[in-house]
Amino acid sequence: MPLRFYNTLTRREEEFVPLREGRVGMYCCGPTVYAPPHVGNLRTFFFADVLHRYLEYRGYEVRFVMNLTDVDDKTIRGALRDGVSLKEYGEPFVAALFESLDGLGVERADLYPRATDYVPQMVEIIRRLEERGLAYESEGSVYYDISQFADYGKLSKVDVSAGRRGERVAHDEYDKDDVRDFVLWKGAKPEDAQVGAVWDTPWGPGRPGWHIECSAMSMHELGETFDIHAGGVDLTFPHHEDEIAQSEGATGKPFVRYWLHGEFLQMDGEKMAKSLGNFFSLQDLVAQGVKASSIRYLFLTAHYRSKLNFTFEALESAEQAVRRVRTTRERLRTHPAVASPGPADQPVLHRAVDAALAGFAAAMDQDLNTSVALAELHALVSATNGRLEGLGTAPISEAERDAALDAMARIDSVFGFLRVADREVQVDGGLAAWVEERLAARGAARNAKDFAQSDAIRAELAERGVVVEDTAQGPRWSLA
Ligand code: AMP
Ligand code: ZN
Repeated sequence: MPLRFYNTLTRREEEFVPLREGRVGMYCCGPTVYAPPHVGNLRTFFFADVLHRYLEYRGYEVRFVMNLTDVDDKTIRGALRDGVSLKEYGEPFVAALFESLDGLGVERADLYPRATDYVPQMVEIIRRLEERGLAYESEGSVYYDISQFADYGKLSKVDVSAGRRGERVAHDEYDKDDVRDFVLWKGAKPEDAQVGAVWDTPWGPGRPGWHIECSAMSMHELGETFDIHAGGVDLTFPHHEDEIAQSEGATGKPFVRYWLHGEFLQMDGEKMAKSLGNFFSLQDLVAQGVKASSIRYLFLTAHYRSKLNFTFEALESAEQAVRRVRTTRERLRTHPAVASPGPADQPVLHRAVDAALAGFAAAMDQDLNTSVALAELHALVSATNGRLEGLGTAPISEAERDAALDAMARIDSVFGFLRVADREVQVDGGLAAWVEERLAARGAARNAKDFAQSDAIRAELAERGVVVEDTAQGPRWSLA
């Protein structure tokens, strides 16, 4: 079955065919480093993570680049307010970003370029645009002449005819009512120099507009035409529309083949946003007892192109679902298995494994349908529970057990919530004392031949990821 993505450029689901066989170049617009990320931002980076991981699961060799916007209207304003340089201003937010990405179990991209390191590449694109009659200078700044680029509007489908020709917009962010010539390079203002945001160029001193930054970083790192460009849905216009105009205008080549946009995380029906004040950081939530694994799971329950409402009830259900999968995995892992093959090697679980892996891939191939893919994992969990409970009929074989454990691990190489949950158990303070106490209770129950009680304790331990091995020296435990 082919892998298919919904491409914002064509408004259709299309078969994914990379430019070079077996390899994928992928870019995601990263954050502006002017505040720590909230879980709304993280939903977008999570979406890019699942995309990245699934491409790798499919066997592609992926080069994944996510930029850090360290110079724009917002960072300059912040640095001025705090009386620090642009560089000093951004660093704590870069650190906060990585702390959050790691907390959520997001796999690292290959590269996190900072815009301020790519100014020569930006200047070169603007020079080419001028040469091709697509850019013009006005009062020390350079603007893109959208009337000269026939394809302007092809991504966002904005009504270009409604635009006021020759009028300009100098802000980094503007809305659809403002379809105008946008700024590529901004002539220096006195305050820019105060924060170290001034570069010399053929048009005099100044600093880049936001949109040119992503054109420069993505093309420099992935080539003038590359496979996938991802980002939050709000970036479609003007940011991505302007990236296309700049890149294709300068090179005369197609810029990006597949545009993928992730929908918002909402709070009470509104976008979670810094400007609305309705946000939580990952650290806020963890301090309130929410597990990062629950957040990861919650994100998987919705398709990336659907809005997702953030509620504590949904996080609670997510936590239970994670626990269900984990407990079954631990029960299976610690269950005594017989050598295989043999008459004990029942096909039941093998069939369930094959069905789950096929169903998982089919759902993910369909534009990353994570909620359907999750249901396939739960079907495997149910089959495993059924097998563990029906053991009277035939003991479980090693081959069967390993196939099911391997399938769970493979699926989690994309979902990633089990790995995050395993780490949470390990940092659970006081766990060791609790385990010792439970093991002593289990020993006492066994001595009293109360096997129901000793089995119950074993299950209780397994639920928290504790694997017990009975040795001649007594029980030995480890964390799964
Ligand atoms: P910013 O830091 O504002 O530049 O945003 C960084 C990224 O987070 C962009 O790709 C936005 O589209 C995305 N984003 C911002 N708010 C949300 C939200 N509530 N849900 C999902 N993505 C968001
Ligand atoms: Zn961007």
